[in-house]
Amino acid sequence: MVARHDLTTDPGLQAQLLQARRGTAFFARKLNELTDARLDGDSLLPGWSRRHIAAHIGYNARAIARLIEWAATGVETPMYPSVAVRDEEIEFGATLSPIALRNLFDHSAVHLSVEWRDLPDDAWHHTVRTIQGRDVPASETVWMRSREVWVHAVDLDNGATFADIPEPVLKRLLNDITGAWHTRGTDAGLVVKVAGTDSSFGDTDAADPTVVTGALAGVVRWAAGRGADGVEASKSSVSTMVPVAPKWI
Ligand code: ZN
Repeated sequence: MVARHDLTTDPGLQAQLLQARRGTAFFARKLNELTDARLDGDSLLPGWSRRHIAAHIGYNARAIARLIEWAATGVETPMYPSVAVRDEEIEFGATLSPIALRNLFDHSAVHLSVEWRDLPDDAWHHTVRTIQGRDVPASETVWMRSREVWVHAVDLDNGATFADIPEPVLKRLLNDITGAWHTRGTDAGLVVKVAGTDSSFGDTDAADPTVVTGALAGVVRWAAGRGADGVEASKSSVSTMVPVAPKWI
């Protein structure tokens, strides 16, 4: 009999799956609001039209579904053969007809959701590999997808903002981004503070850091390299220009 609910019994994972599916529904709404003609317009990502974003999100679901098949069968099926192939695929996808592009998004999202649903409890800890070459448990794919759909829904430039992204997703994004800076050592002299909280990120041991502050959504938007509205910066308690955030991905 085919399962009609997720096989995983882990409540934390179930909550993450809900968040990824909500993000996918949110992306779908922002995409479906766009007329076919508006798909040709620019996204918020340099050099990418809205078509590129839709194609990327569709192929991303297929790539993550390959990781779930890997976790289920033990047969290695990478996300993409290479970064170059991934990029070529997106360029190709961006040239599809509007109906084909929308079908790519819809079908790949449903397929991934089913792969997740049917992955048995004990397979979620099986190791798979990301395009960056990181070995991760299959459960990590849920977050990988979640951050893609939520952030790129904003990139569609169709009215979504970081304030639409749920707080747990924003918090995890900020941890991911500042963690990546830390690993690369690109956060020297830079501290990020979320207004109204005690949370500090970045080079918190620096003697006289540049401190970037704002509400959570604004801080995450800035940290993700998507503009400085809603944040301010200071050094030695004196207001200063908001720096460009270090590269994230
Ligand atoms: Zn992406």
